[in-house]
Amino acid sequence: MAIITKAPRGTQDLLPSNGFREQFIEKNLTDISSYYGYKIISTPVFEHTELFDRGVGETTDVVQKEMYTFEDNGRRSITLKPEGTAGAARMFIEHGLFNEPMPQKYSYVTPCYRYEKPQAGRLREFHQFGVECYGSSSPQTDAEVISLARAIFDFFGIDGLKLKINSIGCPKCRARYQKALRDYFTPFKDELCDTCKTRLEKNPMRLLDCKDPDDKKRASGAPKILDYLCDECREHFESVKKYLDCLDIQYEVDPSIVRGLDYYTRTVFEFVSDSLGAQGTVLGGGRYDGLISQLGGPETPAIGFAMGLERFNLLLDAQGVNLLECPVPDIYIGSVGEDAKIAAMRHAEELREDGFSTEIDLVGRSIKAQMKYANKIGALFTCIIGSDEIKSGAVSVKKMKTGETFSLELKNFAESFERLRINDMCENISFPDGTDATDLNSLMGKVSGAEDNKEQPFV
Ligand code: ATP
Ligand code: MG
Repeated sequence: MAIITKAPRGTQDLLPSNGFREQFIEKNLTDISSYYGYKIISTPVFEHTELFDRGVGETTDVVQKEMYTFEDNGRRSITLKPEGTAGAARMFIEHGLFNEPMPQKYSYVTPCYRYEKPQAGRLREFHQFGVECYGSSSPQTDAEVISLARAIFDFFGIDGLKLKINSIGCPKCRARYQKALRDYFTPFKDELCDTCKTRLEKNPMRLLDCKDPDDKKRASGAPKILDYLCDECREHFESVKKYLDCLDIQYEVDPSIVRGLDYYTRTVFEFVSDSLGAQGTVLGGGRYDGLISQLGGPETPAIGFAMGLERFNLLLDAQGVNLLECPVPDIYIGSVGEDAKIAAMRHAEELREDGFSTEIDLVGRSIKAQMKYANKIGALFTCIIGSDEIKSGAVSVKKMKTGETFSLELKNFAESFERLRINDMCENISFPDGTDATDLNSLMGKVSGAEDNKEQPFV
């Protein structure tokens, strides 16, 4: 295929059949987060390369081999964001948000770019939903952030995910641990993959995150960070576990979780699925108490997580979760003749103003073809305006599902259609107590009755 009609490797189009579903997902992710106090933010898709070098860490896979970095026409080194945290941290510092009352809680959906080997759940352009909470070092916050992640999976009806947690300590206890790791891995130095050879010098903890199967096997016998935690870090980790227990959140302590980015301290966690093959980690996060000061801001404890939306979608599909379908038109208004065409256009505008999605003929189809098209796009109701309808001032509206027809006056068409549509929707509501809801008035009575009597809500 010609190169201009083929998207670059590792990218995905959002097709029209999926756009509303994606919007539904993103809206609910940010809404659920707002119940926990998270406010929506957005930062640029590109930043100064140095932000990621310093913020993500020079010994990480991301910085070493995955960044999309280029020089712009002003000779600045620019990088497309490989993750969301560094940009959010930069925003927090640049806008002096550390002067606001703490904690500050932000959520975002962002595209991310990493030069990786594309495969299922691993793309070069992907999307992350992320949250960041600044200004609380309390272990309660760790548990709250994890409970937000759980609330998201619960809302979407995803089950079977494993929550894995670990503590990777603070710079103080990690120094001792890094030394122990170096001592453990040095005898195998020559057998390590090239990246791990550098990691051994610069940041041996990265060795535990290597995807090379041989290195992975070797890593399983390595010393465990939990045996090296200082008293404060151990206490923090114990409290996080206590709060998770209080919230009935099941977890597994997994000392091999070190996370891919350098800025993490203390608590790290991942939600892992076994229905996604090799790319099983849907959501990963942790505490990064050192990042804000490392980037030039005041000492500010922080914690957050990021979830890959493509992996989340794969998970929804794998578990057969049905979400919002692509919306269909409420009504298709067919027309024959120039006058009818104008009438159709006018009524379509009125209906849209009243909140009904309405389509008319825009390609000059025959009347038969218009009806075929209306059927194909799944219009719930259809009608045809011709010279007879214009003369009589009434039109026959057909409910496509049942074939029933209703005569509506063209004069107050939007109003009459609204009544018809609402009555139709009421017919489809069922009450647990068997109340007949086909009549709008009885339904309204029922709703206000429910408000009066809070003991027995009608839903
Ligand atoms: P992995 O170990 O799978 O490479 P990671 O540790 O690099 O993941 P993070 O940087 O923690 O991933 O990113 C958070 C989440 O973003 C991941 O859990 C995953 O859901 C998603 N993600 C990361 N890289 C990709 C990618 N290349 N394509 C699609 N999703 C990704
Ligand atoms: Mg990665």
